[in-house]
Order: sequence, then C-alpha cells, then structure tokens
Amino acid sequence: MARIRTGADATAKAYAENTSGGGSGNDFIPYMRLQDDGDIVRFCFVTELDVETAKKAGTPHVVINAEFHRIQKTSSGGKTYYNFDLCDLDYDSEAGEMTGECSECSADNRRTSRFMTWIYVESFLHTFQNPDQSQPWQKVQMGRMELFRQPVNSYMVFADGFYMWQSLQGKIDMYGTMMDRQYMITRHGARNQRKVTRDLDALKQDPISAEIIAGAADLPSLEAIATREVETMDGKIASPSTDLRDAPAVKENVEIDGGSDDTVDIEDLPW
Ligand SMILES: [Zn+2]
Repeated sequence: MARIRTGADATAKAYAENTSGGGSGNDFIPYMRLQDDGDIVRFCFVTELDVETAKKAGTPHVVINAEFHRIQKTSSGGKTYYNFDLCDLDYDSEAGEMTGECSECSADNRRTSRFMTWIYVESFLHTFQNPDQSQPWQKVQMGRMELFRQPVNSYMVFADGFYMWQSLQGKIDMYGTMMDRQYMITRHGARNQRKVTRDLDALKQDPISAEIIAGAADLPSLEAIATREVETMDGKIASPSTDLRDAPAVKENVEIDGGSDDTVDIEDLPW
C-alpha cells in the first residue's frame, strides 16, 4: 500500500470493523469547506499524528497524505466540478522516488500532495445572517466583529495542501498531539476570487469530550475515502442510480490558495 504513506494498516483494520455500524445512512462523506470571505470554522481533530499517539487518544484515525491529481469532471446535471483522484504511481521509499505508471502523470497533469483528517466541526461563523430567515443564527461578538454562528456538531473530512500542512505542522510540533484543543480556520477571499488564503489558529488547551472521540470510531477510514473505496458515511460506494455527482457540494470556480506569501501556486488548491 505505497499509494498512501502513513497509518494504512491500523485504520484499514478499523474500517473493516466499523463499516457495518453507524446510523448515518447513505450520506456522502462530508468535506469541510469554507465558502465565503470571513467564514470561520471551529473544530477539533479526531485524528492523530501517528499510530502511537492515536492509540493514546482513543481514535483509530491517523493523518494520511498522498499524491493526487485534480481532475475536472462534469456532473450528469451539467455542472463542472473537480475531484482529487489518487495518483497511480507508487512511492518507493528505498529509492525515494515515485515509480510505476499513471495516466494522469503521463498526460502531464501535475501531482499535488494533500493530507486528510477527520475532524468534528462544532460550528461555522459567518459575517452574514442565515439566508434562511426562518432559522436565524445566533449573533456572537468576536473582538470588533459581529458574526453569526451556524451550529454543526458533526464529523467532516478536512483535506488540504502544502500551506495548510505547514501551519498544522507548527502546532503539532508545539503540542505533540492534534487532539488536545479546538482549532479555528478563517477564510480570506470572496467566492469567485482567484486567490484565497486561510489562517489556522489553535485555541487554548481543552480536552475533547469522550463522546466525540468515541463517535469517531464509527467513521470510514481515511485510506478508503482517498481511494474512493468508500463514498458514503455507511462505508459504501454511492449507487449509480443516485445522482452522485450533483449531490456533494460542487465548486464551479477554481480558487487558488496563495498561502501566506504572494506567489500563486496552482498546485495547492483548497479542498
Ligand atoms: Zn499520477
């Protein structure tokens, strides 16, 4: 299993044990996305940095990373969207290079490194009130900002590229764990804007509830999601009769994550 480089064995086992359970039905794997300028997500990781730390924290999930190709597709409803498909090359750790055959690589579609984690999203904070006026969001004051809190309280996949990994790596190095506190990510950049940046902030240390950690055991493995062996929360491939490609959140516009410097790098697209 060289296509995914870390934590494969442990989480594959957890996946095999857990796919029969779960009450989420045929829901698609939800990806955490910040869609508007000033949007903030507040969450905690239910994923750890290595197998040992995960065991201590009580989660089967270990952060994975792999090479992906960003592939443009068109849904049956006519929408353009992008999938991140796993590169078919194998990583030869002895030689330190990628080997084998990959049609996307052969077609000069460049690879991008992405990491994937499971997170538990507590809420999103928006600069605007709920467009659905029948269910107004709670107003919250953060410093000089008045924001509107959309409660979420569910598990989502958080996948991202190089710049976000650099930020996260800094926190991991500082705390020695990913699961001792909540985090916030703030998006800067409106919809349709070519350059979007996101800041990661760690909140103060605060233990994650046992209930949230226990619930993570029922989630499909990150490896199975990356390889598309699993597309729904109950561990299945979406049936072709459902309109799979129109169901998940679809992005029609390409956004480019410039990270914290000024160079725009098409290799590091946000989710
Ligand atoms: Zn490839």
